[in-house]
Amino acid sequence: MAKIGINIATGSLQQAEMIVGIDLGTTNSLVAIIHPESKMPIALKEHNSSSLVPSVIHFNNAANITVGEEAKNYLETEPHNTIFSAKRLMGKSYNDLKQNAAFFTYKIIDNDDEKLVKVQVGNKFYSPIELSSFILKELKAKAEHILKTPVTKAVITVPAYFNDAQRQATRDAGKLAGLDVLRIVNEPTAAALAYGLGLEKETEKTIAVYDLGGGTFDISILKISNGIFEVLSTNGNTYLGGDDFDHAIVNYWIEELSINDEELKANNSIKQSLRLKAEEAKKHLSFNDEFSTSFNEKELFITKQKFEALIQPFIEQTLQCCTNALKDAALQSTDIETIVMVGGSTRVPLVKHSVSNFFGKEVNDSVNPDEVVALGAAVQADILAGNNKEFLLLDITPLSLGIETMGGLMDVLIPRNSKIPSKAGRQYTTQKDGQGSMRISVYQGERDLVKDNRKLAEFNLTNIPGMPAGLPKVEVSFLINADGILMVKAKELRSGVEQSIEVKPQYGLTDDDVEKMLLESITHAKDDIAIRALVEAKTEGEQILSTTENFLTKNTSLITKDEMLATAAAMQALQLAITMDDKNLIQTKTEELNEITRPFAERAMDAAVGAALKGKQL
Ligand code: ADP
Ligand code: MG
Repeated sequence: MAKIGINIATGSLQQAEMIVGIDLGTTNSLVAIIHPESKMPIALKEHNSSSLVPSVIHFNNAANITVGEEAKNYLETEPHNTIFSAKRLMGKSYNDLKQNAAFFTYKIIDNDDEKLVKVQVGNKFYSPIELSSFILKELKAKAEHILKTPVTKAVITVPAYFNDAQRQATRDAGKLAGLDVLRIVNEPTAAALAYGLGLEKETEKTIAVYDLGGGTFDISILKISNGIFEVLSTNGNTYLGGDDFDHAIVNYWIEELSINDEELKANNSIKQSLRLKAEEAKKHLSFNDEFSTSFNEKELFITKQKFEALIQPFIEQTLQCCTNALKDAALQSTDIETIVMVGGSTRVPLVKHSVSNFFGKEVNDSVNPDEVVALGAAVQADILAGNNKEFLLLDITPLSLGIETMGGLMDVLIPRNSKIPSKAGRQYTTQKDGQGSMRISVYQGERDLVKDNRKLAEFNLTNIPGMPAGLPKVEVSFLINADGILMVKAKELRSGVEQSIEVKPQYGLTDDDVEKMLLESITHAKDDIAIRALVEAKTEGEQILSTTENFLTKNTSLITKDEMLATAAAMQALQLAITMDDKNLIQTKTEELNEITRPFAERAMDAAVGAALKGKQL
């Protein structure tokens, strides 16, 4: 690729293709590029203004849209027309959000179902994808204005804990904004890249990325070696961030000023304006010991000490996530060599000190925590543009992926915390003679029975040529691409018949769901093992029953009357044991039936050989 120099200051840019990095944040969003001359990542900004575009969208009466700083001004005065934290809605249904409904000052349509939420502004309805696309459009326009060139390709970052649905929603938002989204990258991975960690190829390093933004918290443990960034584990909470600090201050003030509920309800903007004051206080307290301001002719006051007491529980929660992440990575806090701080909220001194104490090390905060993710996205964009070939990125899957097998069991193909991109395959066969199709049901989760996991997709492999049961070889393969999108393929190897689907992620799986699923798998581990053993015994029992029945109808002549009676009795006993769900009894009865029928098989074999010798068709 020809490298063409540009001059950012004068905006003379002739490069044909520019891939930008975008941090689409809950609170703030921004665009970064690799400077073609200095080769350093830089955040794009107009003269004398911030690189940050507040992720706020305002609709005026004519449904005209403004995004960013200007829109933020309406948070107070027009809460119904001013959308903030749209990222929290991505890939969510109303049911997912119910518990947090009070958080949103604008109208979220209460469908009370699993469909994607919509936001109502005036008489119009917007999906979170559309809302995010408005922010992306603004970022695109801003970048084009600064760079004086069309911007059509981008790398967009998402929190590490985003599930497939949320990643896909982000991708769709990009598409709607006219951007070709080349890659969705985890924010912590981008942050590590921005720090240039791993640039010295020989060194191997284990690092932690602590990202506390406005609305989300992510902790990621990465291993960097030979220019490869590998995510060992991730943990976090999409409902924890600097916003919570603001709310804590707001609630404190509401109590201090004895503002009652009626007043709050009567005047919708009180809370919003207190929110903005609280944020001001919080930022002020990062560098000062106390804050005071006037509000509706009253005085608002808070000390740093009080503020720290208010946010202590939130910080504790983040540290608990850190503990979990370390456990998943099978590491001790002392194994972490470098800690990278990301997100505006890590400017709070207590956050920094607490994280530093937790890991027993100084934290790394030399790169602007607001910009670091976008800068890393730009580095990734540069890698994709082919300018930085030595890097490879690996991420991991948060939950196990597998398919349903006999008896509703979960057969895991890709275990949780596997690196992605990832590939796995396994062979299956048919249960019935002449079975022409096979249902492939894809699940995500940690439980032994698929009914306790989450169904992602289902499809039929059809046109399997007629063959006796057990003969077809159906290979099911899973491929997760670098964006975490799963591709499932089923192929009957003897005939070459195949079918594949891209797993359309189902919307509505929250991070809490993921956590709950993991937790349940632990709580139910004992039950699950027992159930799995029972299901396996039943499946085996049913299989031998059907094989025996099959055999009996085809080979009556080879069996004596007594044998027939004994077999029938044993089959009946086994059938009864299966009905009774008694694992031990099933196993005993299966063994007994096996015992009786074993000689039959030999006899049948002899007969077949004899028949073959006589030149008969089998
Ligand atoms: P997100 O990734 O969620 O978009 P950011 O990384 O932009 O969020 O962080 C935004 C959060 O950082 C907001 O809650 C903001 O109030 C907070 N923040 C920014 N500067 C400071 C500061 N100096 N002290 C404390 N909090 C800050
Ligand atoms: Mg962020």
